[in-house]
Amino acid sequence: MGKRVDETVQRLLSMWETGGFPKVVAKTMLARKAGERPCDTWSLANQILMIVSGTEDARGFDQWKKVGRKVKKGAKALYISGPLKKTITVKDEETGEERKQQITYGFKDIPVFALEDTEGEPVSATAPNYQPDTLPPLMDVAEAWGIKVSYAAGGDNYYGKYMINSDQIVLSTHDVSTFFHELSHAAHNRIRPLKGGQNPLQEIVAETSAAVLCLIYGYEGYVGHSRDYVASYGKVKPEEATKAVMRAMSDIEKVLEMILSTTKQTESRTA
Ligand SMILES: [Zn+2]
Repeated sequence: MGKRVDETVQRLLSMWETGGFPKVVAKTMLARKAGERPCDTWSLANQILMIVSGTEDARGFDQWKKVGRKVKKGAKALYISGPLKKTITVKDEETGEERKQQITYGFKDIPVFALEDTEGEPVSATAPNYQPDTLPPLMDVAEAWGIKVSYAAGGDNYYGKYMINSDQIVLSTHDVSTFFHELSHAAHNRIRPLKGGQNPLQEIVAETSAAVLCLIYGYEGYVGHSRDYVASYGKVKPEEATKAVMRAMSDIEKVLEMILSTTKQTESRTA
């Protein structure tokens, strides 16, 4: 095991140094599907709040009333964030023409309640299914560690997220590399508690580990993206990404050993 990890790490670093990696594949974000629940139009951040609080359907008091359900007494609201919008008149500097434009000038907290905290008519709304037809490799590791992995659409600035406190992963893409990245954060958190937010060292550990896993499982097209990501967190040029990896190396090895000693999926994809 140790030897395979070492060899693959070395292979990755020399690919990064020489730029000798396969053509990068484009990353893809899940397109939003029409759903019947109000949350199907929410931002990914709001959906994550909902998922983390343990429900798959949360709505406002009146939205529940509309479908014949009542919020149970004493139920605690969950607060999502909604934009405050207003219409302003703007004047075109060249033509002098005036037109109306809607702008967001702030955010407000909106109370919503979990389906489980309501009673009444049965709910028929179905949730769009964002699960890939084939789950990525290493899903058995998440399962072994009791990590819930959900897929959701509506992300604007990130493809996935590992929530430290609830130990859950939410993915807004089917790209295997993103799942590997979040799983690596989860492994890292099991080695030592992670700091919240985008911590550079943690990001370098997660992304480098994910790139090694991509090589092991046959998804080499993401290796170039990883180099850029690691370089940007290490504040170095892409060709110098390996420099950024050096001080994170011992954690990267621990993360990889932990993941690879847990999985039973040893076969790499036949591309
Ligand atoms: Zn990350």
